[in-house]
Amino acid sequence: GYRKGGYHAARPGDRFAGGRFVAQRKLGWGNFSTVWLAYDTLLSRFVALKIQKSARDYAHAALHEIELLSAAAKGDPTNSKCVIQLLDHFKHAGPNGKHICLVTEFLGDSLLRLIRYNRNKGIGLSRVREICRSVLTGLDYMHRELGIIHTDLKPENVLLVSTINPSKDPVRSRLTPILKRPEGNQYRTPSISFSEKMLKTRARRAVAKILQRRVSLGGFTADMVKERSLDGISMKCKIVDFGNACWADQQGDGVIQTRQYRAPEVIIGSGYSYSADMWSFACMAFELATGDMLFAPNTCQGCSEDEDHLALMMETLGKMPKKIATSGTRSKDYFNRYGDLKRVKRMRFWPLERVLVERYNFTEPDAKGLADFLRPILDFDPENRPTAAECLKHAWLNN
Ligand code: ADP
Ligand code: MG
Repeated sequence: GYRKGGYHAARPGDRFAGGRFVAQRKLGWGNFSTVWLAYDTLLSRFVALKIQKSARDYAHAALHEIELLSAAAKGDPTNSKCVIQLLDHFKHAGPNGKHICLVTEFLGDSLLRLIRYNRNKGIGLSRVREICRSVLTGLDYMHRELGIIHTDLKPENVLLVSTINPSKDPVRSRLTPILKRPEGNQYRTPSISFSEKMLKTRARRAVAKILQRRVSLGGFTADMVKERSLDGISMKCKIVDFGNACWADQQGDGVIQTRQYRAPEVIIGSGYSYSADMWSFACMAFELATGDMLFAPNTCQGCSEDEDHLALMMETLGKMPKKIATSGTRSKDYFNRYGDLKRVKRMRFWPLERVLVERYNFTEPDAKGLADFLRPILDFDPENRPTAAECLKHAWLNN
């Protein structure tokens, strides 16, 4: 929350870094930060300002993110490798403490908003292909050239990019920067405690707002670019949020990744590498194509979320090889010595390709094409998964 050690409450018109950056409006937030659209008065351009929570652990995480993003920027001087570009960073002192701020290029909405904008029905296979190409380009760069594992790849952490040159576009005039704090007190500091009921209506209003909103591509909404349609818009995107990323040779041994995008080796505790990002990538590609998460585990009677998750994986992908199932530090919690789940008895095998046809009404060739692309990435054995570079060569992305 907005308290000591927490978020910094900014308002439109607030100035940062000795007055250079002026806050415009809030773009989003995560567990670690709030992100604002800001105007850079020195270089006359819009940027994104990620204002980290101030407590020591968050500051430490921000410094780590700066280290990784600096390496990424250094290796990509033409800014073409589908990773967000860090432009600057500084410290900002506020009532809740000292906040480390990252200045990055201003990007558009996340893939999560794109999925919701399409009412969770999938975004169409040609757009899925284009997004996959961008994300794989970013992953290939991180993995092969930088030696970084992202560890939190998910639709929220991939943002759309406008490929329109702002200086040549008439809609640019709609983006007039705010340079002074607006008169009056219409921008109040968010209050700290909500009642349960208030939270519910707030959440409902927020969802309604997202649905009404047009997908934004870094200042240009899709509607502004082409009336009420995403057709014809290049779906370039970039990987963001390096807050949990790590150098592959310095990884910790904790649990990584957001639940639904978590690889099996992370759950059973048998170590992970770049291939864990590939697993998340495949989960995300399925979600873009269908509008539903590939695996959405729950706790069920007598079994944990982890066990449900492993069961869901096996229902779609077949039995986990015993060698893999029994190889982790937590294997004994879930599997017996034959490599069968101890507490989940009933499972119904429903392979990916059939799910696409029977549940999502894909045509047989569309289902086969997508399943052929995704199935190898969802190999239980991380060693067998194709790399991002190999995926980029796959026929499904190149026809
Ligand atoms: P956290 O580490 O707190 O999760 P993120 O870097 O993921 O922070 O940013 C939180 C959210 O802010 C994103 O999901 C996105 O909606 C928005 N956001 C972040 N960076 C940008 C940017 N450069 N341009 C536009 N929106 C952004
Ligand atoms: Mg995030």
